Amino acid sequence: MTADGTGSFNLKAFLSSGPIRSLIFGGAFLIAAIAVGTAFMVGNFRERALKANQRELENTVQLITRHFDQQLEDFTIVLKDIAARLHASGISSEILGGQLSTLAWHEELRTKVGAYSDAAGISVFDAEGNLVNSSEVWPVPDVKIADRTYFKTLKSGGASTPIEIELVRGRVFSGGWAIIMAQRLTGPNGEFAGIVARSIAPATLEKYLASVVLRDGAAISIYRRDGILLARYPHFEHMIGTQIRDREIFQYLTSSSGRGTVRVTSPIDGQQRLASANSLRGFPIAVVASTTIDAALADWREQTRFLIVVAVLSAITIAILLSFFIRKLLAQHRIERQRLDTAINNMSQGLLLYDSSERLVVCNQRYIAMYGLSADVVKPGLSFRDLLLYRKKIGSFKGDVEVFISNVRRNVAIGKTTRNTFETGDGRLIQILNQPLKNGWLATHDDITERTRAEEQIRHLAHYDALTDLPNRTLFHERLRQELAEAKSASQLAVLYIDIDEFKSVNDSLGHMIGDELLKSVASRLGACVEGADFVARLGGDEFAIVKTRLKDPVEVAKLAARVLETIRAPYNCLGNQLTSDASIGVAMAPQHGTDLEQILKNADMAMYAAKSAGRRTWRFFEPSMDAHVRARRQLETDLRKAIAEEALEVYYQPCLNLQNGTITGCEALVRWRHPERGMISPAEFIPLAEETGLINEIGEWVLAKACNEAASWPVAINVAVNVSPVQFRSGTLALKIVAALAESGLSAQRLELEITEAVLIRDDETALEILHQLRAIGIRIALDDFGTGYSSLSYLKRFPFDKIKIDRCFVNDLAEATDSSIVQAVVNIAAARHMTTTAEGVETERQQDLLRRLGCTEMQGFLFSAPKPAEEVRRMLLAHSSRPASVA
Ligand code: C2E
Ligand code: CA
Ligand code: CA
Repeated sequence: MTADGTGSFNLKAFLSSGPIRSLIFGGAFLIAAIAVGTAFMVGNFRERALKANQRELENTVQLITRHFDQQLEDFTIVLKDIAARLHASGISSEILGGQLSTLAWHEELRTKVGAYSDAAGISVFDAEGNLVNSSEVWPVPDVKIADRTYFKTLKSGGASTPIEIELVRGRVFSGGWAIIMAQRLTGPNGEFAGIVARSIAPATLEKYLASVVLRDGAAISIYRRDGILLARYPHFEHMIGTQIRDREIFQYLTSSSGRGTVRVTSPIDGQQRLASANSLRGFPIAVVASTTIDAALADWREQTRFLIVVAVLSAITIAILLSFFIRKLLAQHRIERQRLDTAINNMSQGLLLYDSSERLVVCNQRYIAMYGLSADVVKPGLSFRDLLLYRKKIGSFKGDVEVFISNVRRNVAIGKTTRNTFETGDGRLIQILNQPLKNGWLATHDDITERTRAEEQIRHLAHYDALTDLPNRTLFHERLRQELAEAKSASQLAVLYIDIDEFKSVNDSLGHMIGDELLKSVASRLGACVEGADFVARLGGDEFAIVKTRLKDPVEVAKLAARVLETIRAPYNCLGNQLTSDASIGVAMAPQHGTDLEQILKNADMAMYAAKSAGRRTWRFFEPSMDAHVRARRQLETDLRKAIAEEALEVYYQPCLNLQNGTITGCEALVRWRHPERGMISPAEFIPLAEETGLINEIGEWVLAKACNEAASWPVAINVAVNVSPVQFRSGTLALKIVAALAESGLSAQRLELEITEAVLIRDDETALEILHQLRAIGIRIALDDFGTGYSSLSYLKRFPFDKIKIDRCFVNDLAEATDSSIVQAVVNIAAARHMTTTAEGVETERQQDLLRRLGCTEMQGFLFSAPKPAEEVRRMLLAHSSRPASVA
């Protein structure tokens, strides 16, 4: 495979692959087996064909031999019979001619010829060789045979057998070939008297032979024992009478027992023949039956042809099947290869496969692209070193080539998988995984730049605040824990808890965007306050912390806290808004205030609350008494719950006077708690606690019900005012509860006045405003309490049409001290313009009363007339008052 994708398909390699090779070998073996089997069968069939022919030849020869033995025996008997009769009649050679040349003898001889009349005539010759009589012709022609060999042999008495056989050109009947069988005739004294001979035309024998020969190519020859060919089928005229004694066939005939088969070249037609021979028992004659090898193998050839066709067809079938399977495997292989290539080239990692000689076997496109390499250089066959040298040359490899190679080699040698991260020239991080394999190793190159960055970012997000990029609470705890472990009295540590004062109102009134800007600015300013190992963290919301280490003197912390406050107080410009801010700071020291993380944090928190309680805009060191304070608060909460459950709270009422005519216009309901051990506890102490814990909802509801019931018993002109906490507005059921209290008590809505602080309007503006509007719509009056102590009191007057403004006690106090009445005058004026009444709180002196009256304030409330009093006392006071209003001086 090359870098350009799939690469050229290596057929040779594929064909030498395991399964394909065995398939090819299997097929070749099968074809070879068919060839060998066929050859074996062909050979086998050939032998069998030859054997069958041999047997046939042998049988034929036997048959013919027996036939001729029989026939010639018959002929012999006839000849012997004639010879015997002539001998018995005592015919001498002198008288033979006279005696036998009669028609009667001619007839006699004719009878003797019998069945062979046409082919084997009988002739008698006298001692001189003159024809005496013949079965074939009458009258007897003048024929002399004294020159014939058989005549001479018989006359001389040198014959070894009683019958002489010879092939001659006929003289008696025709001029054709004649096989002569001659018998000696003897006179009464045993002298030679002549011969009786039987003349058989070869054609006679050949006719019989023709009837025996069955197949083409077969031939049967009759020989005299000395090799003279007597007859043959098929007939060969020019060979009849020739002697073939020297030829191999005849040697075989004479040497063997006269049986069996040989392969010879025919002396007659020159063809390759199978020949079987046999000799007649009673005559010096041999029969040779033969067939051409061609003919003998004719059937076999047919079979062979068939076998070869079958074998070739089988081989072709196998070859076709084989090629089909190979092609199929090839295609499959190619597809798999392509898939693999696709997979490899689409990997997100660069991939390299080296063989054991450190040469590249596979290299994917990703690798090429990753380092900006040339696919013409980086391709299979390239050595590891050359690849690195190439990369070094083009600047995509930063390290030392030889060191890198020896490292990889060492690890591959011991089979160790390694994972290393390298930085490229262009600042990317590449993780290389080298996995040793059986032959070579696999290297994957993973670009982990993005992943690493993302991980770093996630790690950063987990430890840093997104808005200010300061360490978050988690990291703060982590680092603080480390620092605490090292803190000792000679090298102390301080934790500063910083809470931005009134941040909530900035956020609520100016929006989150500006709130966020303020927090960012505060964060950066705080960052500028620390140095070295010290650090700033954002703990959430508007809470920050500074950890200062290696402190020798607590004075350093005091200086730091002062510096922080000073920094925070400097004006801000947030998105065009000029803002000021302030903070409350709590400081805890280690090991002085504890070495445990939890404890230090809790202590710093308590110190910060102490700073808040002290009026904010300041800082406090942790003191053990703060801990006691917190514990006391917790005790108070438990007790308050108990008091509510046991209805141990009471409601006191403080009258409110009209400054012009001195009449009581109404009473403010103020809750009282008589603690079983601590005695009377001020609502200024337990109301904030009740608000924090949510108990204010129950308390408020209870006071409201109590006050309405009480007011219902008062003179109709006397109203009742009930304080409502901002927390109560958040419950969502406030209006319902108020309506229910009115209904229950029978008090008319016009006699109820609700006192709220501007804090109600700071949070959830819209919801609270809606509730206030609903209440006002049913006739309830709404008073703005503690006017002047809040953040931007005047702006609240525009938001809601209050019925009354209650001027806070501090202004009334200032009236007495500083004679500066401008603020009260302003409030009175604004209220008058908007048809609101004004009530001055905390009027303790006549002088204050006079001033307020002169300023045009509508009503007053304070110890000067009456402190808050239990319900029965107020009831009595109201009764007395209705008859005699308070004297207003
Ligand atoms: P507040 O609503 O401003 O109530 C007036 C406070 O001024 C009362 O204190 C009253 O006793 C005190 N006071 C009246 N005249 C004078 C005076 O001439 N000189 C001085 N120095 N003080 C005077 P109290 O009863 O201790 O109540 C404190 C605060 O507790 C109240 O301030 C009010 O905000 C809250 N509070 C009292 N009762 C309830 C209640 O039932 N519900 C709610 N939500 N708040 C209550
Ligand atoms: Ca009040
Ligand atoms: Ca008040």
